[in-house]
Amino acid sequence: MQKTLFIIKPDAVKRHLVGQVIDRIERRGFTIERMEMLTLDLERLKKHYAQLVDKPFFSSITNYMMSGPAIIGILSGPGVIKSWRDMMGATNPGEAAPGTIRGDFATAPDEHGIQNIVHGSDSEESAAREIELWFGK
Ligand code: UDP
Ligand code: MG
Repeated sequence: MQKTLFIIKPDAVKRHLVGQVIDRIERRGFTIERMEMLTLDLERLKKHYAQLVDKPFFSSITNYMMSGPAIIGILSGPGVIKSWRDMMGATNPGEAAPGTIRGDFATAPDEHGIQNIVHGSDSEESAAREIELWFGK
């Protein structure tokens, strides 16, 4: 059984979209193994997004991710890593297909940058690394 890390980002919490995102997870048939609400910390975000730390816009990503409480958790189910990514849609919501979470609940970036509702691990390696980072062994 595969596991993946998911985050319902602060924009979605502020916009009261948590229930609609969780509804999609449950409707699809995935199991929520862990879930909590917390304001993400810079130290772990730097590790979480290690591949983006050197980008000029990294501080805007961390400001966004720490702009309020987020929901973070672990999903399990057959093929959940790719299926959850497919449910999320493209990183830039302006390019995300209708029917995906990003394509249904977010717009192309404005002066605040990309605000795209959800996170999901992108591979088995990322999932294992991210689950250990946020929830321990
Ligand atoms: N991000 C951004 N601008 C970019 C690339 C990424 O604001 O040009 C942010 C955005 O919140 C994105 C996150 O950094 O979801 C992680 O980027 P990644 O390329 O891993 O996209 P994802 O896996 O979330 O689709
Ligand atoms: Mg990613």
